[in-house]
Amino acid sequence: MSKKPKGLQQTYQVRLYPTPEQGSLLMAHCQEYISTVNVLSSALDVDLIPRDDSFSTKDFTAVLPSCVKNQALRDARSVFKRSLDLDVLPVLKKPICQWNNQNWHIEDGTLVVPVMLGGKTQQLHIRCAEVSLDGLPGILRIKKKRGKWIADITMTLPKPTPVSTERVMGVDLGIKVPAVAYVRGAGTRFYGNGRYQRMMRRRFYARRKKLQQARKTRAIRKSRGKEARWMKNINHQLSRQIVNHAQEQGVGTIKVEALTGIRKNTTRTSGGASARKNNRMQNSWSFYQLTMFITYKAERLGIKVEQVDPAYSSQECPACSARNKAQDRTYVCADCGWMGHRDKVGAINISRRAGLPDKRASATGARGSARGRAA
Ligand SMILES: [Zn+2]
Repeated sequence: MSKKPKGLQQTYQVRLYPTPEQGSLLMAHCQEYISTVNVLSSALDVDLIPRDDSFSTKDFTAVLPSCVKNQALRDARSVFKRSLDLDVLPVLKKPICQWNNQNWHIEDGTLVVPVMLGGKTQQLHIRCAEVSLDGLPGILRIKKKRGKWIADITMTLPKPTPVSTERVMGVDLGIKVPAVAYVRGAGTRFYGNGRYQRMMRRRFYARRKKLQQARKTRAIRKSRGKEARWMKNINHQLSRQIVNHAQEQGVGTIKVEALTGIRKNTTRTSGGASARKNNRMQNSWSFYQLTMFITYKAERLGIKVEQVDPAYSSQECPACSARNKAQDRTYVCADCGWMGHRDKVGAINISRRAGLPDKRASATGARGSARGRAA
């Protein structure tokens, strides 16, 4: 028998900050979980319940959501199997509770897990430390250790598939659509929500302007940090989705627009800058960050990332290279009649351009290029 080849596993420990009520609820789940596992494994041990799949979660009760019950049964089976080697039935003593892969997620410093509350399964939102998880979610185990709640998370990094350098993805960044990725033969995909991001930014900016009038410097700094963390989180998500798509498509090279010229700390230069200018600077910094995230996530999977000159990439006709300005949502070439979604044009052109020499060692920053499609 051969095991299914698994990707690389990576574990994370994430500190949880449940409210006191959530803490007692979690503890109740942990106790119920280990007692369920212990009861089931000893029942398996003495042949009280069938050892095959004819026994399921419907055949026992536990004050746990069904997905957790399922996990407890699986756990009990593996505890029982282990007992055959050990000649003794292990008994779980430390309270833990486990959720399997698709039943939990972490978002914006919040862990969301289903729990039993008032006889119903409900989603519990627990504040947690900021993390950026890589890979496919695996098992989530919650435990209390020295008075602190900890989540042990196992993530499976996708197995690097053999990549072909001929398969190229072009990524175009913009304001209306934060990122567009094009792979020949696999079409175009849009990532992120530009309208939402702009709205949030305006909100952050308006808040800081108010604080500025009240001369609340510390609060301004805090708000800036908050915005930066929010943006970073989005860029982590977008880059993860883009790189995953590239991997699924067997892409060997991702081409991104070269970003040159702006220093890293532009987020702090808003002093006398106008809202508009500030917005632009913010965007270029965020584009730079997104490009960097795509680069390191891709390279970790063996996908090459090349920077290309983005000049006129949103204007050139993908069919005949004539320059046209898209007037509408649809790009129409005046020369050859090629027609397509205007937001695709940049990504298609970027995917075809030759990579620039790698200047990463000297590149400290990026020129904002909210050009073209972004306007
Ligand atoms: Zn044309």
